Amino acid sequence: MDIVVRQGDSYWKYSQLFQLPLQLILDSNREIPANQLHIGQTIKIPGFVVTNYQIRAGDTLWAIAQRRNLSLESLLLVNPNINPGALRIGQTVRVPLRIIWRVVEGRQNYSYDLMMENLVRLKSIYPFITIPSIGRTVLNRAIPEVNIGGGNKKVHYNASFHANEWITTPVVMTFLNDYLLALTNQTPIRGLYMLPYYQQVSLSIVPMVNPDGVNLVLNGPPSEEPWRSRVVEINRGSRNFSGWKANIRGVDLNDQFPAKWEIEKERREQAPAPRDFPGEKPLSEPESIAMAELTRRKNFNRVLAFHTQGEVIYWGFENLEPPEAETIVNEFARVSGYTPVRTVDSYAGYKDWFIQDWRRPGFTVELGSGVNPLPLSQFNEIYEETLGIFLAGLYM
Ligand SMILES: [Zn+2]
Repeated sequence: MDIVVRQGDSYWKYSQLFQLPLQLILDSNREIPANQLHIGQTIKIPGFVVTNYQIRAGDTLWAIAQRRNLSLESLLLVNPNINPGALRIGQTVRVPLRIIWRVVEGRQNYSYDLMMENLVRLKSIYPFITIPSIGRTVLNRAIPEVNIGGGNKKVHYNASFHANEWITTPVVMTFLNDYLLALTNQTPIRGLYMLPYYQQVSLSIVPMVNPDGVNLVLNGPPSEEPWRSRVVEINRGSRNFSGWKANIRGVDLNDQFPAKWEIEKERREQAPAPRDFPGEKPLSEPESIAMAELTRRKNFNRVLAFHTQGEVIYWGFENLEPPEAETIVNEFARVSGYTPVRTVDSYAGYKDWFIQDWRRPGFTVELGSGVNPLPLSQFNEIYEETLGIFLAGLYM
């Protein structure tokens, strides 16, 4: 919600008027530092939108504010030209509305386009988040990264490395939305107030590493050639893409990282395929390159990659993981009911590479159980199991 600065206003005053943490207002207006606030400037107030209300007989601004649990001054602030003593019936006044509901509806086929729409909406309601793009896919789609919070602890979550595991995207997007709601409304999640985590943790989320693959599984082949025909060839003539894990070129993005990649190269698919082709060389694909560059640039303290399925959490690689990885994974297991698994006969994954090159905790979390793509009927159960892991990723 935009408001216009008046004589005597300050960010602190807005935080009192709208019952919002000061930090969220400051971070929503980074381009205007507190000491440069001037009369007439437009300022963003997070967690609110403005609605219109038509005056009826007997209305007073005070009563309108009272009914909505708002301060009278907050109403005056969004109606600078109104004379509260001379309201007319039928006159339109602006009324701030606190957002207490989710924008993200996760229980549906969650395409790239729907995610982008949701991200635009979240950014407009919660301007304290930033959503840069970390690169572009083979089909030239921007890959967004959401940044929330500003602390020294740098935590990264990603989802949908694998196309037919796309349910991980609405799961992580729902967490993002719940985190934002908890911040602006100062309500706890599972008993935890989230503002301290916002202050202590810089959380990076890439909610869809593989947009081209996800849209292929959900919507079928892209309209543009050569990919429209090529994906059917790679899929061995089949138009059923439900088994597709790779990017649009038939490269498995989670088999692409320089961590014993040669072993995978030797024993996996030798040509583009719906799954398990590690590529001609490590990091040959724009999506895996974008993830590697992000990870190098951000120097994360820990990373969690969300996949489906199996209800297990992989947490080791070649005994290179630090001791605290075990402590953390035990907490993840406690809050989710999932089983920690230290090593598995698999290499060249994102978390393998992270553990190998940084010697820091990296996890692959396999959500839910069944056959990929998991049915949306599992969404609520998966979300409840994963929520504990999302939170523990911040507090552990
Ligand atoms: Zn996977």
